[in-house]
Amino acid sequence: MSVINFGAGPAKLPREVMLKVKDELLDFDGQGISIMEMSHRCPEYDRFNNKIEQLVREQLSVPDNYKIFFLQGGGTALFAAVAMNLMGRTGTADYFVTGSWSAKAAKEAAKYGKVNLVLPKTDQYIGVPDKSTWNLSPNASYVYYCDNETIHGVEFPFIPEVGDVPLVADMSSNILTRRFDVSKFGVIFAAAQKNIGPPGVVLVIAREDLLGNPLPITPLVMDFTVNAKDKSVHNTPPTFSFYVLGLVFEWCKAFGGLDEMEKKAKWKSEAVYDVINRSNGFYSCLVKPEYRSKMNATFKIRVPELEAQFLSEAKKLGMIQLKGHRSVGGIRVSLYNAITLDEVKVLVKFMEEFYNKNKI
Ligand SMILES: *Cc1c(COP(=O)(O)O)cnc(C)c1O
Repeated sequence: MSVINFGAGPAKLPREVMLKVKDELLDFDGQGISIMEMSHRCPEYDRFNNKIEQLVREQLSVPDNYKIFFLQGGGTALFAAVAMNLMGRTGTADYFVTGSWSAKAAKEAAKYGKVNLVLPKTDQYIGVPDKSTWNLSPNASYVYYCDNETIHGVEFPFIPEVGDVPLVADMSSNILTRRFDVSKFGVIFAAAQKNIGPPGVVLVIAREDLLGNPLPITPLVMDFTVNAKDKSVHNTPPTFSFYVLGLVFEWCKAFGGLDEMEKKAKWKSEAVYDVINRSNGFYSCLVKPEYRSKMNATFKIRVPELEAQFLSEAKKLGMIQLKGHRSVGGIRVSLYNAITLDEVKVLVKFMEEFYNKNKI
């Protein structure tokens, strides 16, 4: 059965990438074995490792004074790793909390230093509060934020201005979906399973001058300095996952690069929000319009009982993984790069029909 996978993560990967993986599974690079059966210290792997770094650098326009490397343990490992690697300078860090992921990151960081919350506390995540409410501390080692909150569907429409303090961004669910200026950041990380690869791998981009000062307790596998220096092969990396990630970056390049991804993301998210906006409150998105995520559109249906019906009818048409995160309920449509315009058209048509049938 052919399905359309709107899952938030692990999420759909480009069809072309999956076909290539299938093709090369038993024989990588003419070696007669799979990449996951190959030493991470052999020249063939080394070549591939360099190629991935090159692709990432090129696609995201990463300046030369930034290291690119990969860690394991998912986004959650990075919540701790960021603090352990960067908290050393002053023992204090500023956190923007705009949804569940940044809330978790702030809580984890508090194990390793003092965390100052930039925004007034809330459990209603509907956008980024006005700058006049921001409480940035002058002695922060870094300022942390989550560029796209995957669960609530809140995306920053700007890069926060934080002066000379290094800015750290969790871009797990929106990296490779639009152009941005890497030089505005100290560290960027992205768990791969949302938009750029299989679960378990995290891409890290770190400014060189921020390396070299980890807390003494930092485990080797989370140490930015060690893993940057050893080019992600300090210990055995998840080679197969890196390989798929490399193919996704290659795919991005072949299919128009960041500009094309950005254009598609805009079109796809506007198509979905447009149905919501035209439904007279039948569908409602709680996030304020300017902060609505281009990757994860979240909404509720006026009569909650209809949500189960929506999900089951969608499933009958092959559209899966549309249920909102268990902590917030409702519906969530994830529109990562691999989702095609045609797939979104099918969903939008269904949403319109469902509305017409069930509005009272
Ligand atoms: C999924 C996600 C995470 C957590 O990733 P894990 O790999 O499950 O630890 C962190 N941040 C964001 C924005 C995410 O979407």
